[in-house]
Amino acid sequence: MANNDVEVAIIGGGAAGIAAARQLHDAGISTLLIEARSRLGGRAWTMFAPSGEPIDLGCGWLHSADRNPWVAVAERQGRTIDKTRPPWFRNSHEDRFPLTEQEQFREAQHAFFERLEAMTANGIDRPASDALEPGNRWNGLINAIGTYISGTEWNRVSAIDAVRYADTEINWRVVEGYGVTIASHGVDLPMALETPVTRIDHSALRLRIETTKGIIKADRAIITLPSTVIAQTDGLFRPKLLQKTEAARGLPLGLNDKLFLSLAFAEEFDKDSRIFGCTDRTATATYHMRPFGRSIIECYFGGTLAHDLESQGEPAFFDFASKQLTDVLGSAFARRIKPIAMHLWGLDPFARGAYSFAEPGKADRRAMLAAPVDGRLFFAGEATSQASYSTAHGAYFSGMAAAQALLLARPR
Ligand SMILES: Cc1cc2nc3c(=O)[nH]c(=O)nc-3n(C[C@H](O)[C@H](O)[C@H](O)COP(=O)(O)OP(=O)(O)OC[C@H]3O[C@@H](n4cnc5c(N)ncnc54)[C@H](O)[C@@H]3O)c2cc1C
Repeated sequence: MANNDVEVAIIGGGAAGIAAARQLHDAGISTLLIEARSRLGGRAWTMFAPSGEPIDLGCGWLHSADRNPWVAVAERQGRTIDKTRPPWFRNSHEDRFPLTEQEQFREAQHAFFERLEAMTANGIDRPASDALEPGNRWNGLINAIGTYISGTEWNRVSAIDAVRYADTEINWRVVEGYGVTIASHGVDLPMALETPVTRIDHSALRLRIETTKGIIKADRAIITLPSTVIAQTDGLFRPKLLQKTEAARGLPLGLNDKLFLSLAFAEEFDKDSRIFGCTDRTATATYHMRPFGRSIIECYFGGTLAHDLESQGEPAFFDFASKQLTDVLGSAFARRIKPIAMHLWGLDPFARGAYSFAEPGKADRRAMLAAPVDGRLFFAGEATSQASYSTAHGAYFSGMAAAQALLLARPR
């Protein structure tokens, strides 16, 4: 393998790895970005609809856009930033969800988040579902929103971790795609694609990184693998790093999947509006109608529902969406939609889920996962972020922080 002896190996070419590698490479350090897939970006992935329009199968929203470093990257790349307010801040389509009920739901959800915050004031962690008001008619939908936020239901989520998440509520998008923006940021970096790492041996003076294509030697490494991959890869570290495995186990990835549908006679719907499949239960998808004004529906599935559908295969997602949409919009609507694309993130061996949540009692695992080992192994990735976890900008910040820590630890 060419380039098999470097100063810094960056393992994982997603948002965190690209940000770290970019910084070190630009500082003149010999780096190699080692990535299992045949493309950069990881959970950031833009592909194209048959119409040629870009589709983000992974991250799509520049959350906290007013402090999101990917905005400047996109602008430098000459891309277009769309600042339309997201559908979740606007009223939903009124069919089966009257405006008065939407208002009641918003109030119930607001009260849930206030109770969640109050509940954590004593520093004792509990499942976030303890903040649900028993018997409240909106609990099903509040839980469904939880599955979009965390990829799992509130009962599996640490209340303290949920409250630590910081968001400025400014959400923008890149018209050409978030995934392509992130991948392009790394395109000229030294990299080894299609090179899954099987072991990181740190027993000797120099690191031996074992891959399916041979061994790479390095002085230091930044490890940006998804928490699932760290938790589930037997013998990933030699000698073992039990604290890292434990930390990663407490930060599983929830599951979210997007299904894109083409939509005929799209003009009937407002651009960037939203429909819930139903409003009285957790097992519902949410439907983003005409993103960017395109003739497309972006269907979003989360938590147990997404797991159940993944176990049945891709057609089950279309059947589910089709049933929900015709229930709301009438049986003739089925003739107006066709599946375009989706990706099963739970079955993807290099992701094994969508984004991390902390289990109750395990909020501090993020700091534990982020801590460097021995001045040689540094850790980044969305799951290591305390307040911007689960996001592409959190991944970026974590990659920059790991690169900075590595620069400080480096002998001068
Ligand atoms: C459906 C969905 C919707 C989302 N929506 C948003 C959103 O709107 N906004 C937002 O900010 N975030 C969103 N996210 C989350 C966001 O995409 C991630 O938080 C972010 O991309 C994670 O970056 P990362 O670098 O930490 O991890 P990754 O992108 O997972 O990077 C890790 C890399 O490691 C590689 N890898 C895995 N195993 C190995 C191995 N053994 N050897 C070598 N390489 C390996 C992977 O292929 C991957 O490229 C979404 C995610 C999904 C799935």
